[in-house]
Amino acid sequence: MLTIGFIGLGNMGAPMSANLVKAGHRVRGFDLADAVKQAAAERGVEIAGSVTAAAEGADVFMTMLPNGAIVREVLTGADGALERLPAGALLMDSSSIDVATTRDMHAAAAAKGLQFLDAPVSGGVSGATAGTLTFMVGGSEAAVERARPVIMTLGSKLVHLGGPGNGQAAKVCNQLVVAASTAAVAEAFVLADRLGVEAKALYEVMSGSSANCWALHNFNPWPGVVDGSAADSGYRPRFAARLMNKDLHLALSAAEGAGQELALTSLVASLFARLAEGPRDLDTSAVIREIPGYAYLVPDSLTEA
Ligand code: NAD
Repeated sequence: MLTIGFIGLGNMGAPMSANLVKAGHRVRGFDLADAVKQAAAERGVEIAGSVTAAAEGADVFMTMLPNGAIVREVLTGADGALERLPAGALLMDSSSIDVATTRDMHAAAAAKGLQFLDAPVSGGVSGATAGTLTFMVGGSEAAVERARPVIMTLGSKLVHLGGPGNGQAAKVCNQLVVAASTAAVAEAFVLADRLGVEAKALYEVMSGSSANCWALHNFNPWPGVVDGSAADSGYRPRFAARLMNKDLHLALSAAEGAGQELALTSLVASLFARLAEGPRDLDTSAVIREIPGYAYLVPDSLTEA
């Protein structure tokens, strides 16, 4: 069993770290937010006082953080993990971040004699909880084989896409499809409403038709359609719109760097940019608010029942 440092115990990091504890590993976690630290401690994660304390003695060091600047700070900042990890440790970043920062982190880890993998995930909070995430991995074959048992505790699929940064490259491709299909599902439910088709009936049709897709079930925007959906709890974030907005920016900047225009992604990105700038932190499914006439579904503030 391994000693695993885990930084970022939020929506994804909480169930992932809990699954590592369940598998018998010693998990030493750190986050800036007290509430998530407490919840993680209740699930058997030992809470470390800092990033460096979580790095001390770790065989494996995982990060599940909001963006590339934060990953860079946590790994290479003044109190960064790279200074404290023991020789031979394996780092794995499962955050969704830009390819350029990722390649820098591979190089910084290699300079310290440490192995590094970019290993972003797909499958959302439900996949993280069930241990059925898909991991898109970039890095050396040797590091991938070392990480495989840990990854297969957290997920059900590992695809090795090649060298440094290729996992993140695949992730942005995945995200632009999820974003566009989420917006399309929202438009479908709006149009059905305008035409007098009941939302649950439309869901039943689409679940068994060529429109069936992940967003239909996981980011369904219509209240009362999918049990436990964010739409049923005031669009509180499961996968926050601000993170989808970030992912679309990552996709567009990767495309720009490659000299490729992406017309549909640009259009969808403008919807999520407006959503992310709104008055509160919302779930991705709240994109329905950007469709004319349907902002009323998504309240600007929540009053607890
Ligand atoms: P989140 O905002 O719920 O969690 C991120 C956590 O990082 C927060 O608890 C925050 O306090 C912590 N944090 C921020 N800065 C820190 C620092 N300097 N030191 C320690 N902790 C710090 O986000 P999430 O939904 O868990 O997503 C995490 C990453 O996974 C993101 O990159 C996201 O794009 C990606 N992702 C999310 C989902 C999803 O469905 N939520 C799915 C796939 C990938």
